[in-house]
Amino acid sequence: MNEKFDCIVAGGGLAGLTSAYVMAKAGLKVAVIERGIAPGSKNVMGGVLYRQPTEVVFPEFWKSAPVERPVAQQSLWVLGQKGAVEFGVKNPARAQPPYNAFTVLRAKFDKWLGKQAVDAGVLVIPETVATDVIMKDNAVVGVRTDREDGDLYADAVIAADGVYSQIAWKAGLRREWRPDQVSLAVKEVIALPAERIEDRFHLSEGAGATIELVGEASQGMMGIAFIYTNKDSLSVGVGIMLSELMKHRRNPNDVLENLKAHKVVRPLLEGGVMREYVAHMIPEGGYESIPRLFTSGLLVAGDAAQLVNSFHREGSNLAMQSGRFAAETVIEAAARGDFSASALSRYRDRLDDSFVMKDMRQYAGIGSYLEKRPHYFSVYPDMANDFLFEFFAIDSIPKRQKLRAMFRRAFETRSLFGMVRDGVGLVMRLLLRSV
Ligand SMILES: Cc1cc2nc3c(=O)[nH]c(=O)nc-3n(C[C@H](O)[C@H](O)[C@H](O)COP(=O)(O)OP(=O)(O)OC[C@H]3O[C@@H](n4cnc5c(N)ncnc54)[C@H](O)[C@@H]3O)c2cc1C
Repeated sequence: MNEKFDCIVAGGGLAGLTSAYVMAKAGLKVAVIERGIAPGSKNVMGGVLYRQPTEVVFPEFWKSAPVERPVAQQSLWVLGQKGAVEFGVKNPARAQPPYNAFTVLRAKFDKWLGKQAVDAGVLVIPETVATDVIMKDNAVVGVRTDREDGDLYADAVIAADGVYSQIAWKAGLRREWRPDQVSLAVKEVIALPAERIEDRFHLSEGAGATIELVGEASQGMMGIAFIYTNKDSLSVGVGIMLSELMKHRRNPNDVLENLKAHKVVRPLLEGGVMREYVAHMIPEGGYESIPRLFTSGLLVAGDAAQLVNSFHREGSNLAMQSGRFAAETVIEAAARGDFSASALSRYRDRLDDSFVMKDMRQYAGIGSYLEKRPHYFSVYPDMANDFLFEFFAIDSIPKRQKLRAMFRRAFETRSLFGMVRDGVGLVMRLLLRSV
């Protein structure tokens, strides 16, 4: 273990393996330290993987990678206690090349990604925990591991060791996350025959669907649930801000059970057999929570850098892109023989110039805005459900009289002024940053 590398990557997830692959392809000597028995064995995602950003590094990956289904149908269900209001889009073109997104199971997908890295020349060291950085003259020069004689030296280190990055922590780049900066997600993989999935979700053979659910799905807490179709299973889960779970003293598993038993969800899952149960944290603190991303000899990528756009359910693409940018920065630094903080600051420039930071900045503050206004998750979902339930009821009551009664009932729950303020407030927050 006393060999010296050009770069050591801590963490063999999406960010780490992508960065290692890019560097090895450029001829650098790279090692990935992974605590699991193999890449993917510890990793959790819903998971929707986006075609375009993945293809930037792995052209036509879907031809050899173990993807589940191309996503041809996406919907959002605003779940009330008794029913759901649905918004969605279906387009069969999404089930064909060039594709938009695929559902994946990380245990399989990361194994494939690991093989791409190994084939490119990366040394993947499994069952090894990166425990600390090794410093010399105020620069990171290696990684300490939990193995005997397990110090590894390199010109640069990339911390891609996920949401609770030990390496970024030990290097003093990140603080302990607050409960309002992370969500706790629980997920089940439920086996169901392919034909039954296609029948229930109205899908053509091989095509996939995603459903995101809010409102009663998180029992009024700030969070989101999901149901994604795999080849012969469903991924069903819910993620809720840790601060909300603590405030409401709730267990996320109970929330998931409540979701699975909901009248409009249960028919989708009926007859399925639970194959896997996992829990994982998601960094959802947004732009304000992004730690310092580099120092002499070290860069931080993916979840370790809080690069998740929860509003758009994007984490995988930000992890892979930040991994790529970190790799390109190390390649450049190696060519110049300069791994100082100033040389590695090009990493931040690359992120700033890309959609990664532009999107993170656009949604800055949205999490704390929503957390202070719980009615978005608790009041409006039932209101929307009741309103549309009445609206579509045909009962010989004149429409004018009916609408008056419906609005009166809605205003009893939330005042007109409150509703206007909520609506305008949210739109302004999103739009003003877009223009
Ligand atoms: C339930 C859930 C659903 C999600 N759904 C989606 C989705 O649908 N679409 C999407 O784009 N994103 C989704 N995400 C987010 C996405 O999974 C993450 O943003 C992405 O996995 C981040 O990749 P990463 O490589 O930075 O971290 P990870 O994938 O977490 O990889 C980190 C790696 O580091 C290893 N590691 C950790 N600590 C150490 C250590 N000390 N030493 C050695 N190895 C270590 C881990 O074992 C792991 O392999 C979801 C997340 C969750 C939890």
